[in-house]
Amino acid sequence: MGVLQEAGKILVLNAGSSSLKFKLFSLVPGLVAGVGGMIDRIGDTVNSNLVAKGNGNKWTEKVPIKDHVAAMECIMGFLSDKESSSIHKEVQAVGHRIVHGLDIHQAALLDDNVIQKLHQAATLAPLHNPPGLQGLAAAMKVFQGVPQVGVFDTAFHQSMPPKAFMYGIPYDYYTQHKIRRYGFHGTSHKYLVETAASMLGKSPQQTNAITCHLGNGSSITAVKNGLSVDTTMGLTPLEGLVMGTRSGDMDPAVPLHLMNTLGLSAKEMDTILNKKSGLLGVCGHNDLRAIIDNKAAGDERAALALDMFVYRVRKYIGAYAAALSGRVDALVFSAGIGENSSIIRGLICEDMQAMGVSIDDAKNKATVGGAQGDISAPDSRMRVLVVPTDEELSIAQQTLDVVSKVKSKVAVAA
Ligand code: ADP
Repeated sequence: MGVLQEAGKILVLNAGSSSLKFKLFSLVPGLVAGVGGMIDRIGDTVNSNLVAKGNGNKWTEKVPIKDHVAAMECIMGFLSDKESSSIHKEVQAVGHRIVHGLDIHQAALLDDNVIQKLHQAATLAPLHNPPGLQGLAAAMKVFQGVPQVGVFDTAFHQSMPPKAFMYGIPYDYYTQHKIRRYGFHGTSHKYLVETAASMLGKSPQQTNAITCHLGNGSSITAVKNGLSVDTTMGLTPLEGLVMGTRSGDMDPAVPLHLMNTLGLSAKEMDTILNKKSGLLGVCGHNDLRAIIDNKAAGDERAALALDMFVYRVRKYIGAYAAALSGRVDALVFSAGIGENSSIIRGLICEDMQAMGVSIDDAKNKATVGGAQGDISAPDSRMRVLVVPTDEELSIAQQTLDVVSKVKSKVAVAA
């Protein structure tokens, strides 16, 4: 880190189509999180808001924001007011969360070549990559000459072998159209395995794990010696688990049949599978808290949705234990559901002793609301860990690594 100024800061950005999330990290040394927040409803100049917190304070401000550049300028004005008046000089690098990085296997400086690749990837991730690129364009305008680094949700899964990432369809679709499984939530899965390894007192390279990122969007990854060898999401984040509003795995003939019989367009079918399916489609709610309450009140569809969610997670844990030849050091739970719901963790791990999974009920109940810990029973062959994910910290860390490498190369060349 010696090549970066000690007073420097890293700004992490995560752009959505109508939102821009940000978090500032100081290099002191080691990364320390400062103010973070988001501007939402970009484009709606009457209702757009800036919501932020940090350093013991919370703010909500009405701000008229017409586009991502205006959002970026607003965030910098806010940070220069609340954090440091010389913030423009202090930000040494900007780290961008980019959803789809095609075959890019690690965080990278966003130079012209990489940016061109991300534009190509936009055809595969039409909902996700264009906002990321808008956020990048805004940051390049506001921070001229500051390194911009891309951290890709797909990158961690680039270590998957072809037998895991290929679909059983004509090979030309792969070579000509890049149709394959890419996987997502990679920044989170990478953070989870690194944290789990340190909790076990091992290096990631010595660690096999099944990492469960269970939120509104959910995915599970099989990690062998620190590397992703399989993951539940595919070409897009639609594959795999039953999610809040996404169907997850199904016979690909189902949408074809529905399109034929109901006369639905591809776009309509896409909306149904991504936004109206999953838990929402089955029982009318996508929040598991409401589903658990409704089940308790006797709602049978809520009970069914809950069973389907838990069953699919258990099925993948079994599949990935087999993919790892039964050698699994840790089963890791994270994200909104995995970090907060001892009920769901309990159901997932119920009657799994024969698989080597056994949890301690008291520890399970106590490890919620952002707590990190080991909830396994003493006889559990796999350690069962709860790890609050921190994608922003991981993005800041990876951004710092990329910039440090580039700067030390320049220093050596000089
Ligand atoms: P996103 O994928 O949007 O980032 P999060 O990781 O924030 O989602 O997870 C949000 C989800 O977490 C909510 O939809 C809700 O289903 C679930 N959740 C949060 N707290 C609990 C809880 N105590 N019990 C059950 N589910 C919870």
